Amino acid sequence: ARAFGHPVCVAVEVEGAGRVLPLVSGREDDWFASDGQMTRRPVRALTLSALAPRPGEHLWDIGGGSGSIAIEWLLSHGSLSATSIEPRPDRAARIAQNAARLGVDRLTVVTGAAPDALADLAPPEAVFVGGGLDAALLDWLARHLPGTTRIVANAVTLETEALLLEARARMGGDLLRIDLAEAAPLGSRTGWTPARPIVQWRLAP
Ligand code: SAH
Repeated sequence: ARAFGHPVCVAVEVEGAGRVLPLVSGREDDWFASDGQMTRRPVRALTLSALAPRPGEHLWDIGGGSGSIAIEWLLSHGSLSATSIEPRPDRAARIAQNAARLGVDRLTVVTGAAPDALADLAPPEAVFVGGGLDAALLDWLARHLPGTTRIVANAVTLETEALLLEARARMGGDLLRIDLAEAAPLGSRTGWTPARPIVQWRLAP
């Protein structure tokens, strides 16, 4: 099935139960099969907003995981294309399956680790780093990509957070701390269950 321009129709056909794929990014997590390594819905919505796809653009999704970022990028517009880079073969296969299930094409899945796996890829207008974030990768991106490339990177650990602080000092851009909590049962009452904070660096020259 091809979803280009018609994701709603394809979703009805694929799901069979009349479940309609919403139009905007930040779709429910269960649209994407995963092994648990996935950018969750609210953070994914903020990430797609930061990536800000424009017609005809190409994305590198480094650390593809389930492919949810690249797939939501592709669902935004039929003229977009993406490459997911993911070293684990099981996850790379899942990315392709998730894309097929949601009817998106123009997705290339590269089984390999960044930065080595990036060398021969068509240059992107936007890059998301959701995995493999280290100094070597940031240096590679700064040295090889045109200065107009948008870069968005999410850090969960203090070590990667420190890298993003340094990247901002060197290259500019904004840092956003995403600190979310969800209401959940606490004994017989309700309390906030905090998620680990995520620091997002966005370079949008
Ligand atoms: N954004 C993804 C989740 C990413 S989890 C989603 O929404 O599904 C981080 C991923 O980065 C993992 O799948 C891990 O295998 C991958 N990864 C780790 N090191 C990497 C590297 N050097 N290059 C590319 N991917 C890497």
